[in-house]
Amino acid sequence: MSDIDRVIIVGGGPIGTLTGLRLARHGIPVTVLDKLDKPAEDHRAATLQPSTLDLFDPMGLTPELIRQGLKSVLFQWRDRETHEVVAEFDYGYLKDDTAYPFVVQIEQHKTVNVALAAAAKEPLFKMIRPIDVTEVSQGPDWVEARATREDGTVEVHRGRWLVGADGGRSIVRKAMDVTFDGFTWPERFNIVTTTRDLEAAMGFRLRNYCAHPERWVSLMKVPGENFEGLWRCVFPAKNEESDEEVMSDAWIAARFAECLAPAGKCDIIHRNMYNVHQRVAGAFYEGRFLLAGDSAHVNNPIGGMGMNSGFQDGINLADKVAEIWKGADPVPLLAHYDRQRRQTAIEYVQAQSIANKRTLEESDPKVRATNLENLRRMAANPDQHRDFVLRSSLIAMYRKAETIE
Ligand SMILES: Cc1cc2nc3c(=O)[nH]c(=O)nc-3n(C[C@H](O)[C@H](O)[C@H](O)COP(=O)(O)OP(=O)(O)OC[C@H]3O[C@@H](n4cnc5c(N)ncnc54)[C@H](O)[C@@H]3O)c2cc1C
Repeated sequence: MSDIDRVIIVGGGPIGTLTGLRLARHGIPVTVLDKLDKPAEDHRAATLQPSTLDLFDPMGLTPELIRQGLKSVLFQWRDRETHEVVAEFDYGYLKDDTAYPFVVQIEQHKTVNVALAAAAKEPLFKMIRPIDVTEVSQGPDWVEARATREDGTVEVHRGRWLVGADGGRSIVRKAMDVTFDGFTWPERFNIVTTTRDLEAAMGFRLRNYCAHPERWVSLMKVPGENFEGLWRCVFPAKNEESDEEVMSDAWIAARFAECLAPAGKCDIIHRNMYNVHQRVAGAFYEGRFLLAGDSAHVNNPIGGMGMNSGFQDGINLADKVAEIWKGADPVPLLAHYDRQRRQTAIEYVQAQSIANKRTLEESDPKVRATNLENLRRMAANPDQHRDFVLRSSLIAMYRKAETIE
């Protein structure tokens, strides 16, 4: 086997690391290139869905993730105007659908580190970091990634296939002739963390969505350092508010006062503002370039689906590349990957995350009342309740992808 007989993965975030681990376990040499010296510790995905815990189980990752995370069976929708709990959804309804009828709340970088620890035991897995991939190219039977080390040294990494797991601004996707269709929400989101115990103070579950026409809030708990607990609050900013204003202590204190007054004073540990997009690539592969995770699709964080759906991409893709490696025809396999993952990204993650955000922010009083009533009814009806948590957990997405021929 020559050194070119390997898969190059651009991006060692959650999806690149997991895909690389899966490929290495299939006996395929893999080189992962990442521009950061360690997994980013900014506050991003906080939730591992039951579908992910099921997928990770045969890979041996699930017990350690449960050990490092917080199990959560229930999540709440509230009316932020009245603090009323409108509906409480219970993953216990999934007891016959999954071995893990709960989510695990855990910071994204800890999930990546668990996958990296497993990958470090695989002789075929090679991670190179920090190294910035600046250009990718492909020929009939090869791919190439040109990359720059921190000291300016340029390296060329060659392989047979190249996975773009390099996030929403993917240079791999940009090197392909594909669209990134969708839209960017007009408002920015500010993620603020606090150590104030909102479970004890206000009866929140570990995941909560509080609807309001202007100032909705999504609240999650993650373990934080040594399980001391950290609450992550996502607040939308109004368009007329400047970045400086939204990041100020005064703005955050006003949001805490509006949304969490009964909890008393909340400290501010961290804040971060970002733009939110809903986009899906026009194709998930072109020739020997393959996309998985945020490089292929991005969505708002309401519902905790982006990374979880990306893991489904990565596992599906690695399993197909393994068949190709053994001699199967790549054309039908990659077209199948594209059909399975693109269609479900649109029908499940885009549709559900957009619906979640619209329910949270609805300003027409009649529509708002109807939306909240629908949530109440769904929670009260066992069949509808189970359907909703099947979709929220992305088990329905996974099952649908498996039925696509
Ligand atoms: C605030 C927020 C909350 C979220 N909450 C959730 C949640 O609860 N549940 C959920 O499922 N999802 C959530 N998401 C989405 C989730 O964070 C993403 O879906 C996930 O990070 C995608 O992983 P990825 O590996 O595809 O991309 P990324 O995490 O973006 O990783 C890409 C990697 O590629 C590297 N890279 C990029 N370009 C290059 C280059 N040119 N050369 C070398 N390396 C490169 C980067 O350094 C990075 O390590 C949230 C996102 C945000 C922003």
